[in-house]
Amino acid sequence: MRKCFVLILFLGWAIMSTATAAPFAIIIHGGAGTITREKLTEEKAREIRATLAKAVNAGYRVLEQGGKAEDAVTAAIVVMENAPLFNAGKGAVFTADGRHELDASLMRGQDLQAGAVAAVRHTRNPILAAKAVMLHSPHVMLAGDGADQFAREQGLEQVENHWFDTPYRKAQWQRARQTASQSLSEELLDDNNPHKDDKFGTVGAVALDQYGHLAAGTSTGGMTNKHYGRVGDSPIIGAGTYADDRSCAVSATGHGEFFIRYTVAHDICARVRYRKESLKQAARQVILQELKTVGGDGGIIALDRQGKPVAVFNTAGMYRGWRTSNQAQPVTGIYEAGDER
Ligand code: ASP
Repeated sequence: MRKCFVLILFLGWAIMSTATAAPFAIIIHGGAGTITREKLTEEKAREIRATLAKAVNAGYRVLEQGGKAEDAVTAAIVVMENAPLFNAGKGAVFTADGRHELDASLMRGQDLQAGAVAAVRHTRNPILAAKAVMLHSPHVMLAGDGADQFAREQGLEQVENHWFDTPYRKAQWQRARQTASQSLSEELLDDNNPHKDDKFGTVGAVALDQYGHLAAGTSTGGMTNKHYGRVGDSPIIGAGTYADDRSCAVSATGHGEFFIRYTVAHDICARVRYRKESLKQAARQVILQELKTVGGDGGIIALDRQGKPVAVFNTAGMYRGWRTSNQAQPVTGIYEAGDER
């Protein structure tokens, strides 16, 4: 009897210790674009890396304490939405009519549940509204006034639209207006356009929790000088965000119209699932081949089922950071792969 009791205790301990030894990981991005060393001062780069590290750690803490992947994703994104450095939440870009319309989405890989909001104007943290849609509504996406109203009813903080203003984004919008004789896409496809990168700066996060579940989320102000009502890829499940425990989880950033048409996030996961490509192989094929050939600027961050972080972009840079359960500190990167090691 006594032996039996000891055996049960031992088994319990063994199960607990394997459970806590399960790997977990988080990777985030703060947008991709023509980010070059000449354009970014050392000081600004330091500030950006510090905020990326803070966001990674906010998500990592959730995972370390046994929290869910979806909660780690939102914890990391809230830090970046609150930082005026990124084009999400405070610091979002301006629409052509001088306002802000924000898009966000969240998906979990366990049961393919997802939530998204598009063109919200008053919800301070759109990623929390996306989460509320996923958890507390029968829908996947709410847009415009209905989305803000739902967020308000869920108790999420509301702000005046100009609360999202920052002088940097205002100047960027005014510059974009002066050159707005071209269409948005022509302007973006023009490699000589000095403001090509003005359009980017979205944020996103992907996490794997200790229970083996994946989640991904993305939040953005969209593209500078966009037509009001324009919705990009970020809130579209399968385009800017996708998570499926059977393959991988992805958050994208870049020229949304391309990411929508090429269903980028889902395409990467589908290649992993059906063609048995490695996540890196799949991401490189989609971002560096398919999108690059047609001029779709941008990149993705992703995790596979084992929590291996992958970041691929076809632009000069992508703000990014990650930390896995065997890393003591987050790693951050800005330019071409290599600068972070
Ligand atoms: N993908 C976003 C959009 O098109 C922009 C970005 O990633 O910076 O709205």
